[in-house]
Amino acid sequence: MLSANPQANSAAIPSVAPAAIPIPAFRDNYIWLMRHGASAVVVDPGAAQPVLDYLARERLSLTAILITHHHADHQGGVAELLARCAAEVFGPAAESITGLDRPLRGGERIRPSGLEAAFDVLPVPGHTLGHLAYYRPGLLFCGDTLFGAGCGRLFEGSPAQMAASLARLAALPDDTAVYCAHEYTEANLRFALAVEPGNPELQRRARDAAALRAEGRPTVPSTIGLERATNPFLRCEEAAVIAAVRERGGLEGRNSTADPLAVFTALRAWKDVF
Ligand code: ZN
Ligand code: FE
Repeated sequence: MLSANPQANSAAIPSVAPAAIPIPAFRDNYIWLMRHGASAVVVDPGAAQPVLDYLARERLSLTAILITHHHADHQGGVAELLARCAAEVFGPAAESITGLDRPLRGGERIRPSGLEAAFDVLPVPGHTLGHLAYYRPGLLFCGDTLFGAGCGRLFEGSPAQMAASLARLAALPDDTAVYCAHEYTEANLRFALAVEPGNPELQRRARDAAALRAEGRPTVPSTIGLERATNPFLRCEEAAVIAAVRERGGLEGRNSTADPLAVFTALRAWKDVF
């Protein structure tokens, strides 16, 4: 028997709590928050106030902070959060991180206090030299390394380092949810379509992303499978990507095969001026 009370009906709709909740910051950053009981863990809090507001509203206490790299839009809120909360700070040992008490180099397995989950720490240099990603089955926090349909700029590392980091992330299971730190997907998709205009999955993704953004919703998380199908930086061995780079004069020779690193390097340089 259906109830006239819409609240009663909505209780029947299965709802799965998302693994991480986006807290928007600045123009296009996402601070990701995981909750377990009354505890919360945040990833890359570039600003403190939106996190403090969320914690107060949801009556949560912050127990740990995960930092992917040293840029201010990823750690600028740490000092103020530590002034108000007793949280442990995980982050790259190789970079200058405020309040860092759990320095990491990659290869560790961490158990942030307040969560039941353990995370593998992946070294993903390229955007910065100490950049880390945090992974557990089904879930990846990758900062500014892999974006929706794109990748981070090479501020500190070489194309070879970034290509190896992206290959490492692309090798994770297809159903891994990719929580990157910026809402850059639509701009990245414009570039991806310039590279591979005939990719039907890419065309579908562009329509999906436009619909989400029109409703003010995030396009993130994506999945590793979707990135492998649509992200040109993970597709440097695809004939269509090689042909597009070659047509722009970014590659020597005329073969339909090419050194994937040369393709990646040319793609990244093209995107920098796109
Ligand atoms: Zn950055
Ligand atoms: Fe950033």
